[in-house]
Amino acid sequence: MTTDNLNPHLTDGFHLVIDALKANDLNTIFGLVGIPITDLCRLAQAEGMHFIGFRHEQNAGNAAAISGYMTQKPGICLTVSAPGFLNGLTALANATVNCFPMILISGSSEREIVDLQQGDYEEMDQLNAAKPYCKAAYRINKAEDIGIGIARAIRAAVSGRPGGVYLDLPAQLLSQTITAEHGKKSIVRVVDPVPRQIPAQDAVKRAMDILKGAKRPLILLGKGAAYAQADADIRALVEQSGIPYLPMSMAKGLLPDNHPQSASAARSYVLAEADVVLLIGARLNWLLAHGKGKTWGKEPKRFIQIDISPTEVDSNVAIEAPVIGDIGSCVNALLADIASLPKPSAEWIGAIAERKEKNMKKMGLTLDEAPSPMHFHSALRVIRDVIKKNPDVNLVNEGANTLDYCRAIVDMYKPRKRFDSGTWGIMGIGMGYAIGAAVTSGLPVVAVEGDSAFGFSGMEVETICRYKLPITVVVFNNNGVYRGTDVNPTGHHHAAPTVFVKNARYDKMIEAFGGKGYHVTSTDQLEAALTEAIAAGKPALINAVIDETAGTESGRLTNLNPAAGATKKA
Ligand code: ADP
Ligand code: MG
Repeated sequence: MTTDNLNPHLTDGFHLVIDALKANDLNTIFGLVGIPITDLCRLAQAEGMHFIGFRHEQNAGNAAAISGYMTQKPGICLTVSAPGFLNGLTALANATVNCFPMILISGSSEREIVDLQQGDYEEMDQLNAAKPYCKAAYRINKAEDIGIGIARAIRAAVSGRPGGVYLDLPAQLLSQTITAEHGKKSIVRVVDPVPRQIPAQDAVKRAMDILKGAKRPLILLGKGAAYAQADADIRALVEQSGIPYLPMSMAKGLLPDNHPQSASAARSYVLAEADVVLLIGARLNWLLAHGKGKTWGKEPKRFIQIDISPTEVDSNVAIEAPVIGDIGSCVNALLADIASLPKPSAEWIGAIAERKEKNMKKMGLTLDEAPSPMHFHSALRVIRDVIKKNPDVNLVNEGANTLDYCRAIVDMYKPRKRFDSGTWGIMGIGMGYAIGAAVTSGLPVVAVEGDSAFGFSGMEVETICRYKLPITVVVFNNNGVYRGTDVNPTGHHHAAPTVFVKNARYDKMIEAFGGKGYHVTSTDQLEAALTEAIAAGKPALINAVIDETAGTESGRLTNLNPAAGATKKA
């Protein structure tokens, strides 16, 4: 290791990067070694940081991103140059889109060769490649600037609307030396990295006036609300106002999903019928049908929006009362005058209760079936029951049908415990989020994965076994994407585009690395396996056989998927 032989009066780029991260309580690096950052990874570990090494940078980046979401501190991902950087870039872009704070730090090749395009090893202008996909991008060229460069990256990631930051470290920088004293003075500890942003009083009053005039009010909680860690105040606002609420997917558990004011089981009804909607850290993007159209009913809505980002307002529909600030401060300001708010009418609350009961009864019948092989509902009923008994479990979820049904069926009881495909509806976050959540929380993780979704990051089961993490992966195996029944219409032996090897045994994958594999075909077996695996707290993978005819095309996103049949008919 080159850095061990350093003159005690000198320091170098390697040490300064570690010192700057540690000075800001950033003690975990998710990454993958190689030129020119291998020694940086070794040194980080030698200096007491946690280094979690992955098999692909995208998964390391996703782990960093989810850790940022859980802690309000930027998750750190460290990669090699060009290809490693590009692999990490997907995660950086996904973090930015989801408003998760992370810093992707990549080593890069020599500037003078890259800039003249003379063909260096892994040559690439990474800084400019990163710029369109992140909130901010910086390069540090001098060792004495490492302290300020990392401070800048931290602030950019966590202040205001959080997001991904790229930090470019040329190989030369890491071996540059300066005096130890100069180095020490150059380290910056960021003061108040997430400054509170207090909303204006007139904006709060405008919002309260609209709420007071509401006949059928609704609160919509997004993952921004979960991120903000203002759990007690948000709960107080919901409970003291008496207004029914809907959690977006990752806001599930911010209040327990079995809360009497949750309108989840009457989602379509309340979206269509509400007259005033208070958005708290939720965007009116595709996940909310852009705030208009059939989903939102006939009458135009009056929207109040709490958000940290002023440009989010009016992004899709007119917002009558924007309240701009951090969610904690905004909710607090609304709470100050909450006693003056009339309670929602018994008529509105009663109509929602009636819908909820009807829908839950109908759903209950399907949930209680126990076919073998299982269908999505019966398998998720088991997951729902086991999570209820283990409310501290972190739940990771991706897939098509597996995602859509799990979101609707599996209740969460605590904030920031559900991590899923998020704003992009991305596949491939599974093992990265699972590892990030396990490392960050020290608590068990259950990753409910469609068989296709699992494939994007499946090799990380080795990482899970290597670090002995308390992760149980449940693969919903229905032999393909959406379903496993398509055939090649030409009769050629090549499989249809949507299908995989029949009856695959994903459980054997984890056994190759010393983890525990389970193969289950019934609800009883699934319940026993999952209960045992969570209690054991060790790496496990359950291959849960799902009826290959059970899934629907694109899950619940059928409307977004243009079908060839439609053009033929036209
Ligand atoms: P969901 O998909 O759950 O609806 P989104 O990711 O669409 O949530 O929306 C999150 C919103 O929360 C973003 O507009 C973001 O600007 C906002 N946000 C994130 N953190 C905070 C915070 N601490 N205070 C206020 N708003 C925040
Ligand atoms: Mg959203």
